[in-house]
Amino acid sequence: MALRLILVGPPGVGKGTQSALIEQNIGSVPLSSGVIFRREIEADTDLGQLAKSYIDRGELVPNGVTIQMMLKRIRSEEVRQNGFILDGFPRTVRQAEALDLELDKISMPLDAVISLEVDDQIVISRLSGRIGCTKCGEIYHATNKPPMREGFCDKCNGPLIIRQDDKPETIQERLRIFRDSTAPVIDHYAKKGLLVKVDGSQAPETVFAEIREKLGQ
Ligand SMILES: [Zn+2]
Repeated sequence: MALRLILVGPPGVGKGTQSALIEQNIGSVPLSSGVIFRREIEADTDLGQLAKSYIDRGELVPNGVTIQMMLKRIRSEEVRQNGFILDGFPRTVRQAEALDLELDKISMPLDAVISLEVDDQIVISRLSGRIGCTKCGEIYHATNKPPMREGFCDKCNGPLIIRQDDKPETIQERLRIFRDSTAPVIDHYAKKGLLVKVDGSQAPETVFAEIREKLGQ
């Protein structure tokens, strides 16, 4: 069955991993707004040109344009047949309401909104140990996946650094932004009876087993 899903959770909770597991096992197609933007811009479509005009001016792409781009992809044969997983969208209640309305119009309503729940402390400890290679981009973790030689990449021997995004003060700020903006979106879908809460602090395969069970797959 083609499931239409939204995946929400704080940075570092493993949304990418769960999205890939859902795709492999359930078939829903992951849709990233970033990838869709890039494709439309590269293909130089009307929507792509419109989006690019905002990006070039350093402005946010308006909700309407973003949603039209997402819908174009959602209406494609592949997504109609297999369903989709949205990750990183909608970010606000306004976007959620607009998305719901458009999905209703094409009779492709959401089946569930999966919230990967995890304490801030766990997110902070997971993210704060991350070290990235400045040359090839490989990611290590101080405790979970240390490099063989401290400070250098196993693959290319490039120097390793803590990415700006993963500095403790930046992580706190990212979490704060996530909680402030996403909590209302989660409430919105809870009211619609679509919210499925999953314990995101478990091992990836256990998280996926819980998702599967709660979706009845
Ligand atoms: Zn490297």
